[in-house]
Amino acid sequence: MIRKTRQREVLEKMLVDQKVHYKPQDMLKIINASTDQNVSQATLYRTLADMETNGEIQSITLSDGCTIYDGNTMPHAHFYCMQCGTLMDIDSLPKEYLDEIRSSYGVTISKVDVVINGYCEQCAKERR
Ligand SMILES: [Zn+2]
Ligand SMILES: [Zn+2]
Repeated sequence: MIRKTRQREVLEKMLVDQKVHYKPQDMLKIINASTDQNVSQATLYRTLADMETNGEIQSITLSDGCTIYDGNTMPHAHFYCMQCGTLMDIDSLPKEYLDEIRSSYGVTISKVDVVINGYCEQCAKERR
């Protein structure tokens, strides 16, 4: 049994319980504000990688190269606003769809990382 660190508990509360998306630098700020010890970026990345291996969270790479972490581990697509950086969950990808990819291409799927890029409703209006 791995002893849970205080940082890990905070991370689980943030990501897994709330099922929201976070950038590592934002997580670092929140953790360091809510615990008395300062967490290094290296420790945070190590803990996140560990949680992802355990299937507790998933990482998504955005078009600007940023990685965000998601507490929702169901295969689902994201919409990313290129102007304001809003990231939204789009409908879950149905199991049948993934099954069809597996059988049509003879592949196994270990991770689903789909990001649709564009402008959110608000930003699209401002650009008109
Ligand atoms: Zn936007
Ligand atoms: Zn998501």
